[in-house]
Amino acid sequence: MEVLYKVAFSEPLGRYLIASRNIKQGEIIMKEKPRLLGSQIAAFPICFKCASRIYTSSPPPCNECGLAPTCGQCQGTLHKKECIYMRKMKENVSGMTLQFLCENPQVTMPLRCLLMKYYDQDFWKEFIQLECHLKERRGTYIYNLHKYQVDKPLRDAKIIQDLQDSDVHADILPTICGILDVNIFEVRPPQGVQGPEDCLRGLYLTPALMAHDCLCNTHLSVDDDFMMTIRASLPINEGDMITFSYTNGLQGNFDRQNHLQQGKYFTCACRRCLDPTELNTGLSTLICPKCRHATMIFKHKQWQCPQCSKNYSNRMIRTTLALAKDKVSNILEFGTLKNAKQLVSTLQRTLGTHHSLIIEVNQKIISLLSQEPDMTSTLEKIALCKDLSKILQVLEPGISRHQGIAQYELHKAQTHLGKVQCNSSQITLDQYCSILKESEGILKGAIGHLIYEPKSTPEGRLAQKALTDLQVLRASVKDLEVKIQKNTKTHK
Ligand SMILES: [Zn+2]
Ligand SMILES: [Zn+2]
Ligand SMILES: [Zn+2]
Ligand SMILES: [Zn+2]
Repeated sequence: MEVLYKVAFSEPLGRYLIASRNIKQGEIIMKEKPRLLGSQIAAFPICFKCASRIYTSSPPPCNECGLAPTCGQCQGTLHKKECIYMRKMKENVSGMTLQFLCENPQVTMPLRCLLMKYYDQDFWKEFIQLECHLKERRGTYIYNLHKYQVDKPLRDAKIIQDLQDSDVHADILPTICGILDVNIFEVRPPQGVQGPEDCLRGLYLTPALMAHDCLCNTHLSVDDDFMMTIRASLPINEGDMITFSYTNGLQGNFDRQNHLQQGKYFTCACRRCLDPTELNTGLSTLICPKCRHATMIFKHKQWQCPQCSKNYSNRMIRTTLALAKDKVSNILEFGTLKNAKQLVSTLQRTLGTHHSLIIEVNQKIISLLSQEPDMTSTLEKIALCKDLSKILQVLEPGISRHQGIAQYELHKAQTHLGKVQCNSSQITLDQYCSILKESEGILKGAIGHLIYEPKSTPEGRLAQKALTDLQVLRASVKDLEVKIQKNTKTHK
């Protein structure tokens, strides 16, 4: 495969990737298998060979080394090289036992990284150069958690001491844990996820070099074999930085910045983060309590209303937002259509119409409205999908999973509405036909966004469904056109 990127270096950024030639939208920039897979820090044991979750407390060990826990029924290849080293290790490192690895699943990922130092020097050289932000992490909650959950058990079991490696200094495990936290990608296991804790952590060395930008230019997908494919979500010019967003594009500036500071230890200074209006989407805009205009933004460390020039302290507003956030989380989990709508009207008294919290509830409303086939609900759903799609065009330009889903839902609602209106003779066949043609266009757009998703993922399945829907829709348009033609002939 042609290499479309080069590694560049600059002082504040460290190493990052740039395009080695012009790259077209949708073009594959790289494909890479993970060098390591593990569970989250609140971990469960996983099979060393295939990374699937192990549910029993006494799993069968790998039949070659007798140490690594396995699922007992896979042909996974993730443990091959490591197995040879672990067989050798068995004699010198007595603390490393199947029981230890099963009882301490949270140590396995950092430990497996460290072991690569002894059997895969190339990996280790690349790995240890990755950013770890040790200085910023020292003394923080996460640093102490790793010290207690990873460093301590490995030292108590004398595993670190028995490695007898003078290179392995006191900071080695905090460094490894830092590198993992900063550079890891969350990947969904093939069996799917019930909650965020089921996601695996995958270490991909080249993709980890991509710099962050909230308006990134790549689309990332991971298939059942954990192969990561990175495509250009937008056209990229030769020499331009290849970027990826570590945050959720539908979160506001505050939440994204928080996430980046706490998890990745940097402050993003992208075009969107520097703009309190979030590129005029109003994703973080509030209603000014004094003049009631939805124009209040956070600028120069305080909330300002450009309409009436009144300023407000951050503390006061933050409390309002925290309360709103609680209500939103509650509705997202348990809300009915009625409560969700009620919450939106309450929130609209303090937040701008397109505030991220309202958008979040609106997404829930869209999915709940899909279960209501009546005309009013369908019209509401169409309006909400159009609104969301417009915002996504700004916040996630180019290929976007969110946009694909929004457009798919929009086409569905619009097709349904046309059908109901035509059946009740509210519109003519001609009008119905144009509605269907418009839906076809929207559906094609949705497919353009979703087509890159691996077939086994929920979005991949949606893409397959969209392709079938497109065939059905095209057939309906054809039938209608024949009908219309016949009608005009009989009228003549
Ligand atoms: Zn397995
Ligand atoms: Zn083995
Ligand atoms: Zn940013
Ligand atoms: Zn005002």
